[in-house]
Amino acid sequence: MTPIKNAPRQMMRQLHEIMASADEAEIRLNKVVHLVATNMVAEVCSAYFIRGGDTLELFATEGLKAEAVHQTRLRVGEGLVGLVAATGSSLNLSNAQDHPKFVYRPETGEEIYKSMLAVPILRIGKVVGVLVVQNQVSRHYSEEEEEALQTIAMVLAELVVSGDLVKAQDKKDGVEDRATVTRYQGTVFAEGFAEGVVVMHEPKLEITQHLSEDYDLQLKKLEEGFNSLLEQLDEIMSAEDILHHGEHREILDVYKLFAMDKGWRRKIEDAIESGLTAEAAVEKIQVENRSKMMKTEDPYLRDRLSDLDDLANRLIRHLMGKAGTAADKALPKNAVVIANNMGPAELLDYDRDRLKAVILKEGAQTSHVAIVARALGIPMIGQINENILDLEDGAQIIVHGLDGEIYIDPPPEILESYRGTIAARAKLLARYDGMREKPVVTKDGVDIELVVNGGLSMDIDGMHRTGAAGVGLFRTEFQFMISKTLPRIRPQAEFYKSIIDAAEGKPVTFRTLDIGGDKEVSFLKRDNEENPALGWRAIRIALDRPALLRYQLRALITAAAGTTLRVMFPMITTVAEFKLAKSILEKELSRHRKNNRPIPEDVKVGTMLEVPSLVWQLDDLLPLVDFISIGSNDLMQFFYASDRENPKLSNRYDPLSPPSLKMLKHIIDKCNAFNKPLTLCGEIGGKTVSALALIAIGFRRLSLAPAAIGPVKMMIRSLNLSQAEEFIEELLSRSDPNIRAELRAFAKDQKVKI
Ligand code: PEP
Ligand code: MG
Repeated sequence: MTPIKNAPRQMMRQLHEIMASADEAEIRLNKVVHLVATNMVAEVCSAYFIRGGDTLELFATEGLKAEAVHQTRLRVGEGLVGLVAATGSSLNLSNAQDHPKFVYRPETGEEIYKSMLAVPILRIGKVVGVLVVQNQVSRHYSEEEEEALQTIAMVLAELVVSGDLVKAQDKKDGVEDRATVTRYQGTVFAEGFAEGVVVMHEPKLEITQHLSEDYDLQLKKLEEGFNSLLEQLDEIMSAEDILHHGEHREILDVYKLFAMDKGWRRKIEDAIESGLTAEAAVEKIQVENRSKMMKTEDPYLRDRLSDLDDLANRLIRHLMGKAGTAADKALPKNAVVIANNMGPAELLDYDRDRLKAVILKEGAQTSHVAIVARALGIPMIGQINENILDLEDGAQIIVHGLDGEIYIDPPPEILESYRGTIAARAKLLARYDGMREKPVVTKDGVDIELVVNGGLSMDIDGMHRTGAAGVGLFRTEFQFMISKTLPRIRPQAEFYKSIIDAAEGKPVTFRTLDIGGDKEVSFLKRDNEENPALGWRAIRIALDRPALLRYQLRALITAAAGTTLRVMFPMITTVAEFKLAKSILEKELSRHRKNNRPIPEDVKVGTMLEVPSLVWQLDDLLPLVDFISIGSNDLMQFFYASDRENPKLSNRYDPLSPPSLKMLKHIIDKCNAFNKPLTLCGEIGGKTVSALALIAIGFRRLSLAPAAIGPVKMMIRSLNLSQAEEFIEELLSRSDPNIRAELRAFAKDQKVKI
């Protein structure tokens, strides 16, 4: 067998002619296997394609018995061909029959062939078939031969794309085109249901044109593609937008190294010179790299494989002029966006009327993207341990945002049961709505105040809809995150005023800008930090850049003129920081007074309690504040030294366990002693079981996402608080950290609606 490297262009030209001809797909395929067998001096060349999701069928052969075509079938994973399909990597064997996976199919007459080279036929990274060459003598195929066969396999994938080959055969055989149902399980980040179509956030593109003889044009295109890829990588790195993409700087550094690697580029250029389009050349080299890296024992290199895959996909998107995310294009009207991860600003980029749900492969429940999803009422499921990034745009999908289930192409039975669940859910929501005017009071007569967390105008609608008593936490940074430039004072003031007006006299507590960590704003360049959650964020930025805080306070004072301004600061770590922040507020108030500008009737200044150090300064802090609001998301992240954004840690430490509840109880006791109002506004308050425990240890005011108000109110109205207090006291005295099950059992026994 002669390496085709000697005459690649000539063979590519012939391949081009065959593929571009008007012949039927099967005839073209027959010509290709003949061409391969002749050029590679192989006695056999056969093409297998996958049908019905898991069966490989022989579609064409040169050399094996003709009657085996459409007769020989193997399951994916069965035999050597099945092994290539299952693993997606090539096999190069000098004695195939010695391989433990070898199976003999008498109808093919292949017993006389010793050596075998088999490569996967891939379409958008998925195996759709296998291309095989065989020789009678025992020999090892060279690397060039393997690469050549991979190139041809890649071009053959076009026949599957057009649907002329496998689908046409299904039609001939009367096989119904019913897609296989796929079910995935994840964690619910934002509750709700959706029925829609898949839209990939960063789509993998289907290459439709593999061959080109205009080498200069393709080389120029490659040059431009590389330039815009490098520009994009620089932009991501300099914008410090890294967490938005769930990527770490380290990975991006590796990406850049790969992107600038001359060897990689040279190989792509060679592939173009052999007759491929720039995008097909990138894909070809990626298939080769993948196949080599899969064989390596080096775990570091194997880990880099997905980085390289991602980088190659990005380059292909640049080459095909489609570098942005799906938010930049017209969305179908019921889009379910699938992403590896995304930042809150990226989520806000989507057209909210058309976005019905978001599925993240990674993510964490207390991450800000999840908080924004809850604020927007968009169901979100994350932490899916399977590769959902291989899904294709346009597949039908249902999202069960209570159980965390996702179905792709669901059959009618599942669709029907899902619609039944939605109807039941609608009834439950109607019951919550029915409770809107009812007081939030326990069965034994203790009043609890429920307020909402918000950050967007629509949260005020949520407050009214649920009958909540006000806004306990208004995250002002959301407004900054959707803005490309620093919002000026007047529009800021107008926005805050619109919130105060919309609240119709109910209190709104504004939190000053809490940026940093995973909350990025485009106008503030930050250093690259090893630990952004512990870094330059929130009040730390505000105190170092006081102009930002001053302008925001000025806008808040203007907006609250004539009413009560309630304002609090995020991430206060020392009493001194609080004093400094408060003094800036006081200066702004005096400035207003001096300039005879209208000022608020009253000002209440508080702080978020999110850093454990502050718990041990309460004696000094409490006399200075008007109120305290616990941000349990951050407080628990620091208490347990457990990154709230890291999916690997999200179920590791339970905030609903004695150590954290004891800390919260200590805060409650202190606030009671100083007679200072206390609210808890983190996400744990939104779950009925944890809300039960929080109220039992003494919280009387919880700030929740609007969607959580109904369920928590229903729980409270069915609760006998004195019983719960006794129960929790006993639980807290235990050393066992797992009290969730006991709390559930208590709720069940006492008929508390959780
Ligand atoms: C918190 O940390 O609990 C909190 C409410 O603030 P955020 O989630 O915005 O950090
Ligand atoms: Mg916080």
